[in-house]
Parts: sequence; C-alpha cells; structure tokens
Amino acid sequence: MKPDLVVFDLDGTLTETKTPLAPDMSDALADLLKEKKVAIIGGGSWKQFKKQFVSRLRCSRKLLPNLFLFPTTATSFYRYRGGWKKVYAKELPKKERRKIEKAFEEVLKEIHYVPPEKVYGKVIEDRKSQVTFSALGQDIVARLGEKGVRLKEAWTKKNGPLKLTITKLMQKRLPNLEVHAAGFTSIDVTEKGIDKAYGIRQIERHLHIPVKKMIFIGDAIFPGGNDYAVTKTGVKTVKVSGPKETKRIIKKIPS
Ligand SMILES: [Mg+2]
Repeated sequence: MKPDLVVFDLDGTLTETKTPLAPDMSDALADLLKEKKVAIIGGGSWKQFKKQFVSRLRCSRKLLPNLFLFPTTATSFYRYRGGWKKVYAKELPKKERRKIEKAFEEVLKEIHYVPPEKVYGKVIEDRKSQVTFSALGQDIVARLGEKGVRLKEAWTKKNGPLKLTITKLMQKRLPNLEVHAAGFTSIDVTEKGIDKAYGIRQIERHLHIPVKKMIFIGDAIFPGGNDYAVTKTGVKTVKVSGPKETKRIIKKIPS
C-alpha cells in the first residue's frame, strides 16, 4: 500500500520519551517529507513538541508545509505557513481542570500514595486541553536526559499496577471525562472520546485525506497501549519497538 500520509506517534516512536529528536531521525524524516505528507500525534503539549521536535528538525523550509503537528492527542493542531501556526486548540473549561487536579489529590490521598523521594517539575500539570499526572515530574528527562528515561522505565516496571489503580479510581470520580494511562509514568485526563482514534479522525477531517490512504506508526499498538485506539479507525498500522525500528520502517515506505 502506498500511503499519502504517514502518521507517527512521537514518544517512543520518533524519539525516546521526552527526548530531543536525534539528527539521524531528522534526516530520515526530511527524506520522507520529500515524498509524503507526515503527521505527528503525541500526548505532550505544543511547548513540549517545540522543544523536543520542531527545534531539532533540520529540513528545508520548503518541505515543512508537508508536516502537520497534533500535540495533546490532537486536541490542538499546528501547521507551517511561513512559520508554525495554530489551526485550533481546544481547552477544557478552567473549572473542569481544577476539578481534575482536586480528584488527583484526593485519589492519591485515598490510596496513601507515597511520592518518589525526588520529583522533577510538576507532578500534576494543566495542559489546558488535558491535565496530566506524571509520577516523577514533567521535567525529569529534560533535567536528567538518558538517566531520566531509565528512571521512568524503572518506575513503570515497579508501579504498573499502582498506575492502573489510580487510573481506575480517577475514572470513577470523573465519569464525564476520560482517564487514560499514557506513556511510562503518566495519566492523562481529557474530555470524553479523546484518544488517538480521535486524533486520526481529526487528521482525516483537517487534511482531507481518507483513513485508508494513511499509515500509522507507533510503539504502543497493543491492548492497554496508548496507540491502540487507532485500530478502531481501521487505519493500517505498523508497530515498532522504538526509534531504531521506526527509522528502518521509514526507509521501506513505498513512495
Ligand atoms: Mg509512544
């Protein structure tokens, strides 16, 4: 199948989690952009996308109109028109966001949550369209680099069931919102129906490319993984183990 559009997950697929785009991946994407349209859906904020991806991408400006960025699980959309421009950004009402923060605090208290000895940056972050809990803090990878990634992996291995418990209790408290475990150490709370399937639909709607002309590449296309929702749309998927494999797959995409 020759796709018109290649959709990527960001963390764990194009980059290590919250880690800057590597030069060789940047080169692979620049080559791909000569042939294809490319969209990226990630849970991170636009600010995070800029830091982690946009500022590291080395490619001719002429190719950038082929690149479409969908931060915070496609509740926002940015495209290049002589500069990166916001097309839309949906926000949860402030009152809802406060309610979510309070629910996190209450749930953590209820389960007698013992926070890690050291956290880096905010543990509960208001990203406007979602509120995100990150057990080790938002900035751990920005501050510790590779070591931060390893700490996150270790936390997940040890605390997988705990994360699930928090997710379940949050969902019980917030029946009108959607709570999902994301990434290694995070739990996202969004409006109902915001997942990567929603992301695919937003892309279809805004880029006018049918799902059957897309291919989705992600590291968590398995039950419980945060890319799994895309399978609801029938999009063709390729599951990768990480950026290394993604790079190999990019080279094999028929032009
Ligand atoms: Mg991922």
